[in-house]
Parts: sequence; structure tokens; C-alpha cells
Amino acid sequence: MKKYADLHVHTDFSDGTFSPEKVVRVAAERKLSCIAICDHDCVDGIEPAMAVGATLGVEIIPGVELTVIEKRKEIHMLGYFVDWKAEWFRRVMHKVQGERRTRMQKMLKKLARFNINIPMERVETFSSGKGSMGRLHLAQALLEAKAVPNIQKAFDMYIGDFRPCYVEDVGFKVKEAVKVIKKAGGVSVLAHPFSVRDENMVNYILDSGVQGIEVYHTDHPSLASKKYLKIAEERGLIATGGSDCHGMGKGRILMGSVRIPYEIVKRLRDKASSK
Ligand code: AMP
Ligand code: FE
Ligand code: FE
Ligand code: ZN
Repeated sequence: MKKYADLHVHTDFSDGTFSPEKVVRVAAERKLSCIAICDHDCVDGIEPAMAVGATLGVEIIPGVELTVIEKRKEIHMLGYFVDWKAEWFRRVMHKVQGERRTRMQKMLKKLARFNINIPMERVETFSSGKGSMGRLHLAQALLEAKAVPNIQKAFDMYIGDFRPCYVEDVGFKVKEAVKVIKKAGGVSVLAHPFSVRDENMVNYILDSGVQGIEVYHTDHPSLASKKYLKIAEERGLIATGGSDCHGMGKGRILMGSVRIPYEIVKRLRDKASSK
């Protein structure tokens, strides 16, 4: 039987709503041979996922999705086969998680100016008190407080990129993110390039030593995927793909809705071990 992988999945160690254990159970139900756990700025969900993966026969690729801020734009950079056990790498991730907390406090202050008062504790109930807190947790708290009619509106009205209550993450620079992933023994991949919406920026990132590009993604129209596949071929980049499943965080369970032939996993692994 042909093996398939979903190379972009979140757990509740960032803004997914499922625990790592639940994520792996869903992957098994959906007949995925392999998933990559790619939490925002966090690798702590990998170990519990691997423990369950071993019992259910789902291979877990250790991954991460780093937040990059470049020219006042939020960009996401995936790292595959990173050394998630390395003490220095975990320390860097924990520092970023601290910065995310400070940023959340700033966003809450901005919301207060709109007479929307969300206590940090409410955000924490959605972020489950572990890993990376982020805007999807805040959106859930806004919905709970009936400040918005749905999650999408929370982003459109208040916390979407550069909306009135948005606060920029500290983040990495593109070249820093590539370097950190490389130092951690991983393969760097530009996440969902369609969301960058700036061709010059995409080219700049691809010129910065990135080794792959996420061609297939839930938010990519097929024409966009075609375009990125061509770019991957021209530049010799690994063409990856994943659903970016956030559990129920995006309204429905996306896992497995983007499936990549297992050969891509082999290419990523070869690239990671060739360093
Ligand atoms: P953060 O890492 O805190 O900047 O939050 C980024 C995350 O927020 C993304 O990975 C998505 O999960 C979510 N997000 C960003 N923009 C939107 C949007 N317009 N609609 C829904 N979710 C979004
Ligand atoms: Fe997310
Ligand atoms: Fe992302
Ligand atoms: Zn993601």
C-alpha cells in the first residue's frame, strides 16, 4: 500500500486544540503513515506524540514552525528533523515562548482600549498553559467573551496582521531562522508561501538558504501550488505539503486533507542527515 504523510500538524503545545496523543490517534484513523509535528516555536509536543506513534504505527517527524518577522511581515518557517532534544534548542524555543507571552499582554492592553477586557487567565485556558501561546488562543477567548461573532472576525477586526490590536512577535529574521534550523540539524522549508503575498519577499526568502517550499497547503489554490512546484523544480528545492491541521481550531479537522507521497519524507531525511 502506498504510504502518505501530512507534513504540517499542530498540537495543543501551540495553537492546535488536540493533545499530541489525540493528534496521533486521528492520524492513525485517517490512515496516515507519517505526520510532522510542527508547533509554533515549540518542540515539547514531539516526545508525547512519538510515544503514541510507536504504539499506533504512525511515524512522527520532529518539526517546528518558527515565527519570522522580516520587513514588518510575519512569515513562517518550517524545520524538519530538528534535534528536538538538544538543550540549547529547547532553551531558544522557551525564550521565544516567553516573548510570546509578553506580546500577548500587549495585545490584551490594546484590546482594553476598545473596551474589550480579556484576562490573561482566559487566554491561558485556551493555550492549556503549555508551549506557545498565540493569536488563535486569543481569538478563542474573544469569541468566548462574545466580543466577536466568530474566529475569523477576531482576526479581521482586531488581531489579524497589522489590525488595530495586533502586536508583532519578536521572531527571527529569515536568515536567523535558516541558521537555527541548520544548527539543529534540520531542513528549512518556507511555510505556506501563498500567505506571504509579496513575490519579492518570497524570492528573498528562497535566496536565503531555505531548502524547501511548502507547495501543497490547505490555503493554497491549485494554481498557486502549480506555481510553487515549478519554482521548487527550478531552484532544486524540496516540495513539501501539509494540512496545517489545528485540531478543531480552524473549524474542522484538516489532518490528511493534504497528503504527500512518502518519498518526500525520505528526501527530507536524506537532506537532514547529509549535513
Ligand atoms: P501567532 O503565531 O500568534 O502570530 O498566530 C499565528 C496563527 O494564528 C496562525 O498560525 C494561525 O493559526 C492563526 N491565524 C493567523 N491569521 C489568521 C486568520 N486570518 N484566520 C484564522 N487564523 C489565523
Ligand atoms: Fe497556528
Ligand atoms: Fe503557519
Ligand atoms: Zn502551522
